[in-house]
Amino acid sequence: MSNNNRNFGAGPGKIPDEVLKEAQLEFLSYQNIGFSVTELSHRSEAYAKINQEAQDDLRELLNVPSNYKILFLHGGGQGLFSAVAMNLIGENGTANYAVAGIWSKIAANEAKKYGRIDLVFPEPDSGTIPAINDWTINPKASYLYYCDNETIQGIEFPFVPDSKEVPLVADMSSNLLTRKFDVSKFGVIIAAVQKNLGTAGLGIVIIKDTLLDKALNICPSILNFKLINEYESILNTPPIFSIYMFGKVLKWIKNQGGLDKMEQLSIQKSQLLYNTLKQSNGFYHNNIPEQNRSRINVPFRINKGDVDMENKFLKEAEERKLFQLKGHKLVGGIRVSMNNAVTCEDVQVLVEFMKEFQQENQ
Ligand SMILES: *Cc1c(COP(=O)(O)O)cnc(C)c1O
Repeated sequence: MSNNNRNFGAGPGKIPDEVLKEAQLEFLSYQNIGFSVTELSHRSEAYAKINQEAQDDLRELLNVPSNYKILFLHGGGQGLFSAVAMNLIGENGTANYAVAGIWSKIAANEAKKYGRIDLVFPEPDSGTIPAINDWTINPKASYLYYCDNETIQGIEFPFVPDSKEVPLVADMSSNLLTRKFDVSKFGVIIAAVQKNLGTAGLGIVIIKDTLLDKALNICPSILNFKLINEYESILNTPPIFSIYMFGKVLKWIKNQGGLDKMEQLSIQKSQLLYNTLKQSNGFYHNNIPEQNRSRINVPFRINKGDVDMENKFLKEAEERKLFQLKGHKLVGGIRVSMNNAVTCEDVQVLVEFMKEFQQENQ
C-alpha cells in the first residue's frame, strides 16, 4: 500500500491491506443493510451466509474431504488445547504428544488435566525433530498430537508424522494455508486465526466425523465438538467479526491464486531471508537445523545475542517503518514473521536494511 508501513508481527499478524480496506468501507453499513456487521444478529440470514461461505471457502482451499467437519469455536489456540483433550482423550484417558517447541509443550501441559500424557520423544533442546522411527507411539493412545509450526522458536515439521491407526492431531495456527497437505492424513486440525488468517477470537477445527462423539462429560458445551457441529457453529453468539474477517482473508487467498501461490511465495520469502542470514557470516544467527526451519517465523540473534545491538536494530527498523520485529520474550532477539499478507517486496526491503545495518555496526 502507499504508506510504506511493513508489519512482520507473528500474531496478531498482518492482514492484507485489501481486506482491511474492504472491511473499513463496509464497517458502518454491512452490504448496505443499514448497520454494522458487529451489530448483526447471529440468527440472521446475513450471518448464516457469512458462516457458511467461510466454511465452504476453507473446504475448497484445503480440499477438505466430505467426511470432515469444519467448526468455529471461541477461545483461540489455547482454548483449542483444552478442547482437543476434553473431546478426544476418551475412555482410556491417554494421549501421545510430540513436544518439539513451546506451543506443543503448553498443549501437553494443558492436556495433563484430563488424562495421562506421554511424550513420544524426549524434549529436544536444539530445534531438532527426531525421525519418525525414533518416536515411541502407543498404539492404544486416543490421539497423537504435534504442532506443525512452532511460532516462537521457528521450527516447522518437514513431514506429516505417520501415526498408523492413532488419530493424528495437529496445531497449524501459524502455518495453515501457507502450503498444501493431505487433510485425510489427520484426525483433527486446529488453528487460531490471528497469526496468519485474520483477527483474534476464532479457533478453527477440522475434524474427521468419526471423532466427533467422544467428549468427556465435563467438557463445556461451547467446546464440545459434537454440539458445535450440530449447531453449525452457532451454538451461542460466535465471534462474528473474527469470522467475517476470516472469510474475507480466504477470498483474498483465492483471488491471489490459492494455496499453490501462497506456498510458492512463502518459499521465496523465506529463502531470501535465510540466505541473508547465511551471508552475514554469523552476524545474524538462527540456531535451528536447516531441515526444520520455519518458512513463516524466523527468529535470530545479532552478534551472538548482543542485546544492546538488537535494541538498536529494532529502533532503526521502526524508523524505517519495519514493525513488530521483536522476538518472543522466551527466546529474545529478533523474529521476522512472513505471513501470507507479507509481500516479497516487504522482505526485500527488510533484507536491504539488514545488510546496511550489518555494514554499519560490525
Ligand atoms: C499463538 C499460538 C497459539 C495460541 O494462540 P492463542 O489464541 O493466543 O491462545 C497456539 N499455537 C500456536 C502454534 C500459536 O502460534
